[in-house]
Amino acid sequence: MGAKYKYLFGPVPSRRLGRSLGVDLLPLKTCTQNCIYCQLGKDAPQVLERGEYVPIGIIVDELKLIISEGLDADFITISGSGEPTLHAGLGKLIDEIRTITQIQVAIITNGTLLSRPDVRKDCGKADVVLPSLDAGSPEVFAKINFPHEGLDFYTFAEGLVQFRRQYKGQMWLEVFFCEGINTDEQSIQDLKQWIDKIRPDKVQVNTSVRPVVHPEAARVESDKLEEIARKLGSNAEVIADYHKETKSPTERPDSAAILETLKRRPCSLNDLCRGLGMHPMAVEKALAELRDAGQIDCQEKNGTFYFTAK
Ligand code: SF4
Repeated sequence: MGAKYKYLFGPVPSRRLGRSLGVDLLPLKTCTQNCIYCQLGKDAPQVLERGEYVPIGIIVDELKLIISEGLDADFITISGSGEPTLHAGLGKLIDEIRTITQIQVAIITNGTLLSRPDVRKDCGKADVVLPSLDAGSPEVFAKINFPHEGLDFYTFAEGLVQFRRQYKGQMWLEVFFCEGINTDEQSIQDLKQWIDKIRPDKVQVNTSVRPVVHPEAARVESDKLEEIARKLGSNAEVIADYHKETKSPTERPDSAAILETLKRRPCSLNDLCRGLGMHPMAVEKALAELRDAGQIDCQEKNGTFYFTAK
């Protein structure tokens, strides 16, 4: 769909949400954190202020158009290239979506702002909220998520507990594991204590399944991740997809265009989005496939990830 929609992506098949139409509310990498496993680069400073980062009216117009063209999706998923609860118009957007379609609304969030009543109120309007919790202690939180200095771990985790208490919809908590960072017994037990307090409907356990950009974000092998999920409780499941795609990514138009560009010069995610007029999530997906297929390399330089063809 390319340039026709600036803020929508998909629908794409999603392991967690079926056919999902992504809605992106933010400029690339606008986030409260800087996780070591983030695919969006590390060069943007963390932010805490909510704001009208992109105009809600234009997003609603795009949604009306795609729905009038016969959108077939299980979910409209508010996520995108950063932390969606930073957008101050989140609640208003969900209200607008309710007036134009009956498709369910999901929010993928890092959960760090759920300690704020206004953010809990906005997220409370969604059918499914998918927050993250990768650490059970301030020390591991700092190591894996690199939060904004104004974020306190206990306030964040208590925000998840508070949200769960008042939220009537489905809450699916994602826990991302990086080998050697949060996989030791103590880290798992600390996480379990918080999960028992939060009481999400599901716990979804994940890891980096592709070659890692940041060496510290090393993947956890499948058997070990299954064992960790068992320790976290009966509602925990592994969502990491260890199966590689069999179809060559270069058979896809997006991947072929990206590979051609990278043969000429190394590019960052941002360079590719601007140069090819593609949505960051489409570029991200194609880059991931090209890396899985061993066709490109990635290196970090001054906080930005640069991709090169092999
Ligand atoms: S919360 Fe998401 S967007 Fe923000 S740094 Fe972590 S992985 Fe990246």
